[in-house]
Amino acid sequence: MKELREIAERNIRELLDLALKIFHKDRELARRYVDMAFRIAMKTRTRIPKEYKRLVCRKCRNLLIPGVNCRVRLQPRREPHVVVTCLNCGRIVRYLIKRRRKSSMEPLTETKS
Ligand SMILES: [Zn+2]
Repeated sequence: MKELREIAERNIRELLDLALKIFHKDRELARRYVDMAFRIAMKTRTRIPKEYKRLVCRKCRNLLIPGVNCRVRLQPRREPHVVVTCLNCGRIVRYLIKRRRKSSMEPLTETKS
């Protein structure tokens, strides 16, 4: 079972890498790769690797490329956070920015639109 998940994770990474590479040429194909990656993840109960999680809109399963199909806003007031809006489906995701630690951007809230 552990082995299966390792294979699944490798496949997920490969699919998402491929999606990123092909995005500028063929967005629909990229979306299909993302969809496949998510399906593998669900079927095998494997988590989407952290570094990819934020690149994908979990509602419409499009890659989120700043300046292309998502809007990224920094909110410096109070708790500094980043607001990412998917321009395909309007989903808004907020991430807290914690200083110092590098990989410390955790999802704060996910707001349904
Ligand atoms: Zn979306």
